[in-house]
Amino acid sequence: ARMMEIRQQNCSPMTMKVTYYKEPVFIHQGYMQWLWDVDGRRYLDLFAGVATVSVGHCHPKVRAAAEQQMKKLWHTTNIYVYPTLHEYCEKLVSYFPDPLKVIYLTNSGSEANDLAMLMARLHTGNYDIITLRGSYHGGSPQAMGLTSNAAYKYPIANGLGCTNTMCPDVFRGPWGGSHCRDSPVQTTRECSCAQGTKNTAMQLSVHSSNTKCCMIKSHDEATLKCICMANEQYIGQLQETLATSVPTRIAAFFGEPIQGVGGAVQYPKNYLKQAYKLVRERGGICIADEVQTGFGRTGSHFWGFQGHDVIPDMVTMAKGIGNGFPMGAVVTTPEIAASFAKGIHFNTFGGNPVACAVASSVLDIIKEDGTQKVSLDVGSYLMVELAKLRDKYEIIGDVRGKGLQIGVEMVKDKVSRDPLSHQDMVEIFEDVKDMGVLIGKGGVYGQTFRIKPPMCITKEDADFFLAVFNKSIQNYMERR
Ligand code: PMP
Repeated sequence: ARMMEIRQQNCSPMTMKVTYYKEPVFIHQGYMQWLWDVDGRRYLDLFAGVATVSVGHCHPKVRAAAEQQMKKLWHTTNIYVYPTLHEYCEKLVSYFPDPLKVIYLTNSGSEANDLAMLMARLHTGNYDIITLRGSYHGGSPQAMGLTSNAAYKYPIANGLGCTNTMCPDVFRGPWGGSHCRDSPVQTTRECSCAQGTKNTAMQLSVHSSNTKCCMIKSHDEATLKCICMANEQYIGQLQETLATSVPTRIAAFFGEPIQGVGGAVQYPKNYLKQAYKLVRERGGICIADEVQTGFGRTGSHFWGFQGHDVIPDMVTMAKGIGNGFPMGAVVTTPEIAASFAKGIHFNTFGGNPVACAVASSVLDIIKEDGTQKVSLDVGSYLMVELAKLRDKYEIIGDVRGKGLQIGVEMVKDKVSRDPLSHQDMVEIFEDVKDMGVLIGKGGVYGQTFRIKPPMCITKEDADFFLAVFNKSIQNYMERR
């Protein structure tokens, strides 16, 4: 009760608002894939502080790296030269293909995307930016302008985060964000955040993504044909977006390799490849937001973009980079970095020695513990088993994702594909928690359960979750 009182009176109201559960869960300890609340109840953590705890809560080797660095040096700023920063940058760069060679260290994903936006505009001399519907790129005022999801925006006239006011040249590209539903509803919500102001970006969104054909059940011929159709349609809409903006004004295209907050949304095959080509033809640069998909989370690759056969001009990272320690980064080409070097870029905490020591140990652990392989193996197993539940239950509309970046989209029924109501989602969500598993929620309509655990979970953990999830749906059906 005392903690609730403090939380209500002294913590930010937003923190209260995003409290996921009816009764707040007071977590006070974690170890690897497990969390404990103040009453000593243990939870299997399948959300990892929003895909952030990459190698495990309080991983002993990360803790040792932090402790060791804390005894030596906490802070100097990058005015001075210190080994941890340089060792880390050299190491991180080795994970990228040419020509991605220059690292900038920040403290969060939003900051990384702000910086990327600035660098893209400086380098190209252009201003317009394209982001995809359903995307999330951050909550800082600038990054909020990139974020599509209206739930994370503020309805202020000329507010920076507002879709079409102070960031007038952010075009929402064609991707809809849901396999199960048409998307114009989202557009209405987007519009409501900018009352009385209209621009082409909004209208373009209205026309986009009106297909229902993307409910991927299996990769049979009909489905593949369907994906191809969708692909053509979406690329067509991207072309339309590009043609409507003054073609030579494009600064950048931002895309998450798999949408995270949007609900593990994947693009049709070759979508990003074609998008990159179109953007580059018009003088823009391509930015992959790997804040959620990086560091092996997608299992098959270390970076999500590698699954799309593209090389971005810039990659932004955060979350898993520090296993929960606040950190972010941007990597780009020497050419783009040279344009940026014309000014002075200063960031007091970016590249903090402790953060660098932690992040360096995270890279080592991913190698030593075979983390990416776990993500691939356990993730693939979960996908197969969840697909069985999808075939069994009318209310599971879609199971998608890659590695340990999984979305389970809940629907009223498979014919209408209407999203399951908020109340019903909460019911299942609470039940899962009461049985000892923490998962996430997301999607444009809040209709997608998100599974993105620390990448040290085992097949046994997956089985435990599957049994819990199955039971929670059975319970839900019985109550109906
Ligand atoms: N990009 C993506 C893809 C994200 O998921 C997030 C956070 N959910 C961000 C950027 C912003 O990161 P941060 O909260 O660290 O600012």
